[in-house]
Amino acid sequence: MSDATIPGEPMIAVSALRKSFGQNVVLHDVSLDVPQGGVTALIGPSGSGKSTLLRCINLLERPDGGSLRVDRTVLDFDRVGRKSALPARALAEIRAEAGMVFQSFNLFPHMSVIENVASGPIYVRRIPRATAMERARALLDRVGLAHRADASPAMLSGGQKQRVAIARALAMDPRIMLFDEATSALDPALVGEVLSIMRTLADDGMTMIVVTHEMAFARDVADEVVFMADGYVVERGAARQVIEAPNEARTKEFLRHFH
Ligand code: ADP
Ligand code: MG
Repeated sequence: MSDATIPGEPMIAVSALRKSFGQNVVLHDVSLDVPQGGVTALIGPSGSGKSTLLRCINLLERPDGGSLRVDRTVLDFDRVGRKSALPARALAEIRAEAGMVFQSFNLFPHMSVIENVASGPIYVRRIPRATAMERARALLDRVGLAHRADASPAMLSGGQKQRVAIARALAMDPRIMLFDEATSALDPALVGEVLSIMRTLADDGMTMIVVTHEMAFARDVADEVVFMADGYVVERGAARQVIEAPNEARTKEFLRHFH
């Protein structure tokens, strides 16, 4: 089976996505495209729906309406209807293609660093242990932590834990990576080492959506910046333009807090 992506089509296509929690409408017809190899930074105040949007894209949350395509897998939530189960195969495919890194590192505390990275491939993908461990070691090398392979996560700094979390997500061979405030819980001195790994990943051509409050990173690494407020996309555009010369009053007001 060919693994080729549809040429010219975005790698991630979110169209008119809607999500409510009870009466609270959290996403109002949100649309967003990320081309293959593209990096989109998602910015906005707390409560604007950024995490919910990421969680809808990897289907940790079920959207109420609209559609989602990741690579070649499409889910049309309007067509399926809210009462019916989503098609299991599409669900599994999209979940398998999306790697996610959270603010809290969520490493398994009872496993060594390398076992954290290898466990998904071994237990979920059924890859032979030796192969998975070899691959995990290469991924740890990529995030600069090969020398900590046998350490317990408790022995690592926050920045190192987050780099392990990135290696662990990459071990599942995702086609897209979603970062939800990956550096927000870190001491300021440790933010740079994690952003630097994310930048390398972007340079290597990974398709990424990055929720971040690091505006310099958004400006310099992202291709596009999307500003959300109250569940709406208020403004989107070329990263430098949105960060340095936003058009919308709400974007200007939000960015004032970062100068
Ligand atoms: P952000 O990541 O931009 O801070 P969130 O997506 O976390 O925003 O939250 C957007 C809104 O959705 C908030 O009003 C939040 O309280 C609400 N929300 C998020 N997750 C849930 C949930 N599981 N149940 C109920 N409300 C939720
Ligand atoms: Mg959030």
